[in-house]
Amino acid sequence: MSHKYSLATSLVHAGRNKRVTQGSVNPVIQRASSLVFDSIADKKQATINRTKQALFYGRRGTLTHFALQDAMCELEGGAGCYLYPCGAAAITNSILAFVQQGDHVLMSGAVYEPTQDFCTQVLSRLGVSTTFYDPMDGAEIAKLIQDNTKVLFLESPSSLTMEVPDVPTIVKAVRAVNPEIIIMIDNTWAGGILFKALEHDIDISIQAGTKYLVGHSDIMIGTAVANQRCWDQLRENSYLMGQMVDADSAYTTTRGLHSLAIRFKQHEESSIKVANWLAKQPEVKAVYHPALLSCPGHKFFKRDFTGSAGLFSFEFNEKLNSQQLSCLMDHFELFSMAYSWGGFESLILYNQPEEIAAIRPNIKRKLTGTLIRLHIGFEQVDELIADLKAGFERLKG
Ligand SMILES: *Cc1c(COP(=O)(O)O)cnc(C)c1O
Repeated sequence: MSHKYSLATSLVHAGRNKRVTQGSVNPVIQRASSLVFDSIADKKQATINRTKQALFYGRRGTLTHFALQDAMCELEGGAGCYLYPCGAAAITNSILAFVQQGDHVLMSGAVYEPTQDFCTQVLSRLGVSTTFYDPMDGAEIAKLIQDNTKVLFLESPSSLTMEVPDVPTIVKAVRAVNPEIIIMIDNTWAGGILFKALEHDIDISIQAGTKYLVGHSDIMIGTAVANQRCWDQLRENSYLMGQMVDADSAYTTTRGLHSLAIRFKQHEESSIKVANWLAKQPEVKAVYHPALLSCPGHKFFKRDFTGSAGLFSFEFNEKLNSQQLSCLMDHFELFSMAYSWGGFESLILYNQPEEIAAIRPNIKRKLTGTLIRLHIGFEQVDELIADLKAGFERLKG
């Protein structure tokens, strides 16, 4: 589709060309390992075009996968989109596609914990070293670049603590030293659309589609949208690593995309209401919602993002003891305690300050109170606030 349409309209129409829909509204679900060639000439043609959406072999994708890949490229402005069985696979395979023994990776020290662990436990074994940088110290990044630095990895906002880095400044500083460095971002919170990574000179925008793209907490998938200079290498390496997704998961993800804009509107509206309520509670030290002034990097959020998602956190004045934590966490009626986020339902998790410190290498910012992470879903927001209020009352009792 052309770029003359708004994001809302593009989200409805993305990935629905006639080849993949075959006369229906949605793409067909083409489940296939084998794809049949009519003739030798046909097989030769498919081989030539196997990376350009020819039907070749299941691992290269079927019409169902092409629909999602086209939609993601249109929405994020990429040359190609690779699909992975989960977000973690998208992250690790994107990095692996561009490093070799002796290389160096610059990784945010506030990034999603398994991404850190991949660096320290897997990349280290392959002879690839990692420096963790403080994403809120963008001016310092150039000093950390080495001759062998191959990849800069960003995440915005940071996991759990929600700081929003000055990504454009970091990208410019790195490009000024070495334009060849491959710059990647975990763009999950923004669903790839609230922050347009590739328009900010980032090479690869990665998402745990598990979260907002799917939006219903029932499918796991990862996406990596690459610009022209990175697409061939990302695709071929990921293919050789055997990365692929079943047609049903790809179909469900495309279906989720069509409602992404209106879901984000509701996540934004309700999460800001809950955040503002929390900010008024005397037990709360600060609320880390990117749309609130109290969130580190709020000004970068205002400048760089077009809207807000539903995930944020807040810090208590104090560290809660285990009895207080049980009183608070064990009795919510609407908030479920669970990992992941991005679905229609509200979720809650806690982390103690020392647990956060343990997964924050080289980060200056320190927390002192218990950190609570909330995902605000589509329940009536007053009822969510009442559920939280009852939790705060239990802490007093
Ligand atoms: C959940 C998450 C991932 C991992 O996604 P999975 O689909 O669970 O593998 C990666 N990055 C961020 C920021 C996440 O929140």
